[in-house]
Amino acid sequence: MTIINKLATTLNDALLLDRPFESETTRINLERINIIVYVAALLHVAHIIIFWADLAGNGLNAVDTDYRWRTAIIFTHTIALFVSLAAGFATSAIRKNNLGQALTGRAIPIAVAIVYLLFGAAICIIDQMVVASINAYLITSVAVALVVIMHPGHAAPLYGLVYLLYYFALPVTQADSELLLTMRVNGFSVTVIGFGLSLITWRTNMLAILQNKLIEKQKEELEKKNAQLQHMVRTDMLTGLYNQKRFIEFVEMEIARIKRTGEESCLIFMDLDYFKKVNDLYGHPNGDVVLKWIAGVIRGHLRSTDLAARFGGEEFAILLPGTPLDGACRAAEKIRRAIEGCTFMGEMEDLQVTASFGVTSLSKSGAESFNTAYRAADRALYRAKENGRNRVECSG
Ligand code: GH3
Ligand code: MG
Ligand code: MG
Repeated sequence: MTIINKLATTLNDALLLDRPFESETTRINLERINIIVYVAALLHVAHIIIFWADLAGNGLNAVDTDYRWRTAIIFTHTIALFVSLAAGFATSAIRKNNLGQALTGRAIPIAVAIVYLLFGAAICIIDQMVVASINAYLITSVAVALVVIMHPGHAAPLYGLVYLLYYFALPVTQADSELLLTMRVNGFSVTVIGFGLSLITWRTNMLAILQNKLIEKQKEELEKKNAQLQHMVRTDMLTGLYNQKRFIEFVEMEIARIKRTGEESCLIFMDLDYFKKVNDLYGHPNGDVVLKWIAGVIRGHLRSTDLAARFGGEEFAILLPGTPLDGACRAAEKIRRAIEGCTFMGEMEDLQVTASFGVTSLSKSGAESFNTAYRAADRALYRAKENGRNRVECSG
């Protein structure tokens, strides 16, 4: 039992049997068949024309073996021609209608493989009328093995059954016992070679699909990491607000926009009052908690179109697009009051935080760039500090 299990595991590892990737193999098979059947159709037509011309040209009559051989070849190629064209049209229709995963989509590659193995064996048997040649059987076995990706569990019975048919049908056209033996032995070799190549095709394609899936997965992970990185590049990690760099970009864009539209937009700069004392009294980690909390208060008082950033240490900046100066001052006042009114729990129970605000209008300050607007807002903020803190100063 353990030997069988071991064998099964080894086989499975070598051939990747437990991961058939059916949808991928069917898609590839249909793609390949959609091309190869038309190539085969051309070959059938060429055979039919050549044999037909030969038949007409050399004055054979119906009782001659040569005549029967030629007509049998023409007949078999004609059937194969219709089958290949039908397979081509069916495959095109299936691919066009996205039915690749339906039963017909999965069955067509197997059906084409069966038909062509039988076709090769049939031509080979017909050839025995005039020559003991294995060529047709060999060519089709190799071609089927290389073109159709087949699960070894399907390929083994298929190659085996066609060989059995070939084995028992050979005496119909091959009467010579030595040649019959040679043809059967050669046929067996062809079957083994065909099946062996089919295993290689299976494994190669399974590995390729696996690698593609791995690449896809890595691509997805990379995209996710890229998005995270993008987020980190533009975000302040402590508060989750935009960082200074991103904020400046937004303001520059807004300056360009209002120049074109003539709209009014404003900038608020805010600095916490005596924040050093908060750190000194409650420690830096608690100071960080307060900063995060302040960010939440700011977010809660803004419109979805407003943009807030932690500009540095305990300084925050807010861009209010399409807002006039008086509206921006009212917004700053609301935030000021919210901060002033907040209470903390635990060891920071007695803490009261306030902030000073400088507000400026991007349009009225004639800001050509972020720096001009920044200077105007900073001047207003300085005035707020000078005038006793916990207040909003507005400047046109
Ligand atoms: P003022 O009213 O004049 O603004 O007084 P202030 O103490 O707030 O002075 P300033 O604006 O210069 O604040 C700087 C202090 O802010 C220094 C530092 O203790 C604190 N601070 C800056 N960045 C951080 C930070 O990331 N975390 C914490 N906890 N504190 C910070
Ligand atoms: Mg400061
Ligand atoms: Mg401060």
